[in-house]
Amino acid sequence: MRACVVCKRRKSLESFGFSHIHPKRRNKSCKNCIQKGTIWNQRHKSKRNIIQKHYFSRNKDRILSAQRSMYDKYRNRERLRSKQYRILHKQERQVKQKKYYRQYHELCKLRVKSWANRNPGKVRAITRKHQASRDHRIPAWANLKAISMFYKNCPKGMVVDHIIPLKGQQISGLHILSNLQYLTPRENSRKSNKYPY
Ligand SMILES: [Zn+2]
Repeated sequence: MRACVVCKRRKSLESFGFSHIHPKRRNKSCKNCIQKGTIWNQRHKSKRNIIQKHYFSRNKDRILSAQRSMYDKYRNRERLRSKQYRILHKQERQVKQKKYYRQYHELCKLRVKSWANRNPGKVRAITRKHQASRDHRIPAWANLKAISMFYKNCPKGMVVDHIIPLKGQQISGLHILSNLQYLTPRENSRKSNKYPY
C-alpha cells in the first residue's frame, strides 16, 4: 500500500504504473489519476498551455538541462525496451487498444488529427503506401523506411512524384526509392501519368 500524491488515497502497489524513465520504479500518482490527467489535458488544452508556460518560464534552465541529460542517458535503452514490450504483448495490446478506443474514441480522433497536422509528410507517405500496395506496386525488397524518409524530407512547395507512374499508360513503375523524385506541383500535374513525358 502507498498513498497517491494526487488523490491522496492509499492504494495497492498494482494501482501504480511503472515509470517510463525508471522502469523498475513505480509512478507517484496512481494509474487512475494519470489517466484522468491525460483526459483533462486534452479537454483543456489552452488552460494547460498557460499553466505549462508559466511553469516553464520559471524553471527554464533546470528543465532544459534535466531533459537533455535524461534524453542522452536513456534514449537507446527506452527505445529498445518499448519495442520488445510491443512485440511480446502484441495481442494483449490490441485488445486493450480496441477497448480504449471504444471508450475514448473522440479523444483518439483528436489525437490522430493533431498528429496528422504536425506530420503532413508522413501522412502522404502512408497514403501513397496504401495506394501502392492496393495496386501491388511494392516489391518485397522495397526500403519502406527510406521511402517514408523521402516523403518526410520533401522540400516545402514540392511534391513527391513517381518517375515511372504507378499506373502508367504503357508501363507501370514501382513504389521504390529510386522511382521517387521531388517536383513542383505544376510540373507534377503537367506530367500526370505519362511516361516518358
Ligand atoms: Zn490517485
